[in-house]
Parts: sequence; C-alpha cells; structure tokens
Amino acid sequence: MDMQAPIEEVKGVGPKTAELLKRVNLKTVGDLLYCLPRIYENYQTTVAIEDLKPGKVIVKGRISDLRVMRTSRRQLTITEGTISDDTGSLRTVWFNQPYRAKQFDAKREYYFTGKYELKNGRYVLQSPSAQLVQDVEKDGEAAGFQPIYGQKSTIKPQLFQKIINGMRDQFAEIPDLLPFTEHVPKYISPGARSEALYLSHFPEDPADAEAGRRYLAYEEIFELILAAKLNKLETLRLNAMPLKFEQKLTQTIVKSLPFQLTGAQRKATWEILQELGSKKPMNRMLQGDVGSGKTIVAAIATAQAAASGAQTALLAPTAILANQHFESFVKLFQGLQKQNPGMKLPSIALLTGATKCKNQLKKQIRTGEIDLVIGTHALLTDSTQFHRLGFCIIDEQHRFGVGQRQKLLLKSPEHTAPHLLSMTATPIPRSLQLTVFGDLDVSLLNELPPGRQPIVTKILPELAQADDLYPAMRELLRKNQQIYWICQLIEDKNQSQATPVKRQAKKLAEIFSNYQVGMLHGKMPVEEKDQIMDDFAEGKIDILVSTTVVEVGVNVPNANMIVIQDAENYGLAQLHQLRGRVGRGDQPAQCFLLTTSEGRPSKRLKEMEKSTDGFYLAEVDLKLRGPGEIYGAMQHGELNLQVANLSDTETITAASRHAAEFAKHPEDMVKYPELAMRIRKYQQLTTLN
Ligand code: ADP
Ligand code: MG
Repeated sequence: MDMQAPIEEVKGVGPKTAELLKRVNLKTVGDLLYCLPRIYENYQTTVAIEDLKPGKVIVKGRISDLRVMRTSRRQLTITEGTISDDTGSLRTVWFNQPYRAKQFDAKREYYFTGKYELKNGRYVLQSPSAQLVQDVEKDGEAAGFQPIYGQKSTIKPQLFQKIINGMRDQFAEIPDLLPFTEHVPKYISPGARSEALYLSHFPEDPADAEAGRRYLAYEEIFELILAAKLNKLETLRLNAMPLKFEQKLTQTIVKSLPFQLTGAQRKATWEILQELGSKKPMNRMLQGDVGSGKTIVAAIATAQAAASGAQTALLAPTAILANQHFESFVKLFQGLQKQNPGMKLPSIALLTGATKCKNQLKKQIRTGEIDLVIGTHALLTDSTQFHRLGFCIIDEQHRFGVGQRQKLLLKSPEHTAPHLLSMTATPIPRSLQLTVFGDLDVSLLNELPPGRQPIVTKILPELAQADDLYPAMRELLRKNQQIYWICQLIEDKNQSQATPVKRQAKKLAEIFSNYQVGMLHGKMPVEEKDQIMDDFAEGKIDILVSTTVVEVGVNVPNANMIVIQDAENYGLAQLHQLRGRVGRGDQPAQCFLLTTSEGRPSKRLKEMEKSTDGFYLAEVDLKLRGPGEIYGAMQHGELNLQVANLSDTETITAASRHAAEFAKHPEDMVKYPELAMRIRKYQQLTTLN
C-alpha cells in the first residue's frame, strides 16, 4: 500500500468527501490511517437501567421529553431528557449543549455513555455522549469493544468509520516504517506497524488497543527524537561567527562588578564563553532558579561578542523586562568605563513597541552601528534587520513559541547561524531535553548569590488579612521596604477590564494612607507602565498593586513582600515565578498566599509553603499536571502528540537509543522516504538553531 497515495484513491471516497477530508488536512492514505480513534468504548459493559450504579456507565435506550432551559444567571443552558429501556428510565442533562435537544430521533435506540451521579438530590446521567445503536452494532451482532472517532469539523465520525472499515482488507499491505537497528525493543519488528494500526482501528478487546497504542507511541517518540537529532547534525553543518574568548576583557568586567560571582555563575560563564569561540553555533540553555543571577552571565557574554565585532540580540517577553535589562546593562557598562577610562564599550539600544524613532534605530541596527539590541517581539518584525547578528539571547525562553525563536535566529547573515543562549527558570525535565530539544546542552546555576535569606511563605484566608497581614505589611513599610500585591485580571466585558486591580489599589491606599500605592496592569499604555515600574524601582511607590505582568524577571531588590490574591487560581510554576520577585536582596522576605476557599488549601499551595526550590517544585508540578502543559512548544499547542506520553520514560529511553544508533548514518535516511517525510513536521518544530 502506498501511504503517500492521494485519498481519492481510497475506496468509498468520492470527490465530495475528498474535498471535506482535505479541508481538515487529511490528504493521503497515510493521513487517514493515522487518524486514530479518540477513545474506545466497551459496549459489553452496557447495563440495564434498573441495575445502574454511580460512576461511568453505558446504557442502551431511547430518549424522550427533551427540553432546553436557560438559567437567568450567566446565560447557561441546560438540556434535559429521559432515557428509557425495558427495565426503567433515568434523567439525563447536558450543560451548554442546546443542540442536543434536536439531535435525537425518539424512535431510535442509542448507546449513552456518561457519568451517573447525584446532582441536587437526584441521580442523573451527566452530559453523556451518544452513538446510534445501528452505527455501533455490526449485522445485528451485539456491540463489543469499539473505537470512537472524534468529529473533525464537518466530517461525522460515522463517515470516518465507514471509510476505515472499507480499507480493512488492505491493512496487511501497510509497509514498515522504522529502521531495524541492533537495539530495538521486541515489539518493534517487521509487520509490527501494520498490526498496530489494525489493532488500533479494529480491536477486539482493551488488550488489542493497548498493543496498538504501545507501538504507535514508540513510533511517535522515535520520530520526534530522530528529528531533533537530525536537526542537531544539520546545525553542526552551519557555520557561526567564532566569538573569541577574551580572557582579559572578562576579568576586567568581573572585577568591576559590585559583587563576586558565585561559583555556579563562574562555571556557566566559562562554559558559554568557551563555546562562543567555536565556529559551530552554540545552542545552550542557561537554567537557574529565580534570582540565581542569569542576567550577568548573559551580559558578560555580550561583551565578548561585541569585542569580536558581532551583533547581539537579547529577546525578552515583556517591555518591562526589556527595559529593566537595558538599564542594568547600561549601568554595568558605565561602571566598567568608570574604572577603565578610555575603554571601548558596546553600543546598546532598546527596541520595544513603545520605542520612539523606530526607523532610525532600525537603520542603525542594519548598518551595524548598534552592537547590542535589547527588545521585545518588536525585534522579530521583518523590518528589523541586522548587519552581523552573531549571538542571540532569549530570556525566559519558555515564553516564546518555536516560530518566534526561529524568526530571530534567521536574522543572521546568510549561510550562518547565530550562537544561541536561552535562559529559563523553569527546569526542563530530562525526558523533554531528550525529545523536544534533542539532547540540549545545559549550563546550570544551582547556587544562589550569598546572603539571600529564605523567603517565608504563608497561606492565609483572605478573611484574616486585617488581623494577620496588615500588621506585617506595616512593619515592613516602616523599614522603608516595598510590597507587591498581585491581583487577577478578571475579564469582565461590562466593566473596565482592570477593575479588581483598581479596586484593590483604592482599598490599600485607604488602609495605608501614609504610603504611596501604585497600580500596574497589561492594558495600560506603555509609557505609563514604564513610569510606574521606574517609580517602584526607585522606591517612590511603596505598594505596587499589579497583575501578573510582573511575573517574570522583574528585579526590585528592595521589595521584600509579595501578596498573591486568589492564589489557588495559579499554577505552581507561576506562583514560584511570582514569589521570585522578592528575596532578591539581602533582607528577609515574605510571601503571602491569600485564599478565598473555605476548604483546606490545595496540595499546590502547601508545596509552595514547604519549599522555595524551583527544581523541586517543577518536579511536583510535573507530577500534578503532566509535562504536556508545561513547556515551550507544548504550551503553544504546536506539538500535538497523538499517542505518546512525554512522561513515559521507558519508551523515551528505548526510542532515544534507537534513534541515536540510526543517526550515526544520516545518509541512510534516503532509504526511508516515508519516515523522512513524516519527521519533517517535527524537524521544523524542534529546530532551535
Ligand atoms: P534571574 O536569574 O532571576 O534572572 P537576575 O539576573 O535578575 O536573576 O539577578 C537577581 C539579582 O541578583 C540582581 O539584583 C543581581 O544584580 C543580583 N546578583 C546576581 N549575581 C549576584 C552575585 N553573584 N552576588 C550578589 N548579587 C548578585
Ligand atoms: Mg531573569
């Protein structure tokens, strides 16, 4: 079977159906076969209504008395109906699915699958999915274990099922895909692919489905890793500008700093400076917990780049952060010049949405007058071009999608790649380093600058704030220290969008009338934001009521308390980042997590109270949420793995070894044209350089 054959060649697919399928990106026979069932339903577990027990259930019956009701509050719709079989009847409800009222034919029988549970004192079947009995049962034979396909826009799952059924006889002709090298798991054998696809589409029992899934998950992970590995090889073929290790310059800078570098900073700096000297592009990630001092490491590296005549671009996720970096770089280089009069310093510029005279600045970047440009997304626009971009730094790299990162990297001179340093406080688990990042090079800052006091974290019910929180705030303010107060930005169409922030700022201004209370949120004009941030950094504002715009990177060492309202609404990584805004100087710091819920605090919040170690918290987060939601590409929905699970380390380890073996001879790829084609999408996704 030719997996690349156009879908028109599939039996039962006429021109009209073909058009529909193409619209959802199903263009080849292979595309169809890899459209796997969304779930499996075991209809053998169907129960009579009189025997129902609470939990997930399947019942077979007819539905009547359908009606839609609207609640006055929040425009919620409720669709109700009665399902009956020979033994009895039950009530079913759907929320916000008004189309359900018109979906059913009262004369026909359906399988209903859903949760049977107690709601307001009555047992109901909650939001069941439904399948026509006629669609599920084959030739009058009772339904057994069935795949359920997802609806793809206008294509009904039933149509899809019919097409796949029509191909059933040809599954045996599906060719193998993976290379068979020496070390492959037993279940990766000739014929395994065709069998796995068959079992996935036509399983007889859960074990069949699982066997199919296992092979296909392996295949998916293998492809992802191989793509990353080939990308890495490809990058090695590109040339980068060697940025010569300037030992003397480095020593001079280090001496001019107002502090001593930590051991971890020295080591990371050394690793980076060494690698920048290579003709091959660096692709390194600087991982260090919040406050570990990543910025200075980056700054030293930019000085080396400038000394070699290369331009550097530093990309930051928010204007506030870009501004702050710009100011600290200027300060650093001014300090350097003061101690070393006559020294030639890199010329620095700031480029954000708010930058005035953008065109002129862009001209200076294009002609190479500017050595180092620090900016936001404005750096990525087509009109921002460089003369000799040799080094890119991406701060808080997980905030950027792959496409954005690539846009920046492509601004280097033709046939070269810039060196890349990405920085993050969010540790990337080993499994992801291997898969998505293709065995990434990492420099680690596993040490905080000396003198940092631990941040004391406390969960506090919001009702207790007057008694337990305000006195603590007063005491801190008396010491001339500053406070962040974080509010959620609740989008409310009827009101000005920043209401909670405004309300809270007003309230605090009344309570702490001797102090300056400022307000900051993303919807404010940029100039105003900058002004507020500057005022806070200079100590003109005592309490800054803000949304999470201050979440990443912001550095005001005199702020030693952060209060996070509605703390239960944030993820662990985000809470840790927010808390990282304080404790950046040598004073003790406090973090209050305010909760509105009456029950016991969530596991997340308790972990926050217990630990300030970002690496530990990332692991907890990984366990609580799974890796899929957390990192880079996945966060941006670009990496849609169908079957594989990125916390399945066993499969990852096996596939990784297999891919490494194969990648030793990349020239063999020509013998695997289908594989080469399939991994192209991953190659675009995982390339970082
Ligand atoms: P992050 O890793 O979170 O980006 P920053 O680079 O913003 O951290 O550094 C946090 C603060 O620590 C800054 O005020 C910085 O000047 C200071 N800092 C960095 N390195 C040291 C050091 N070795 N000793 C003392 N303070 C340092
Ligand atoms: Mg930072």
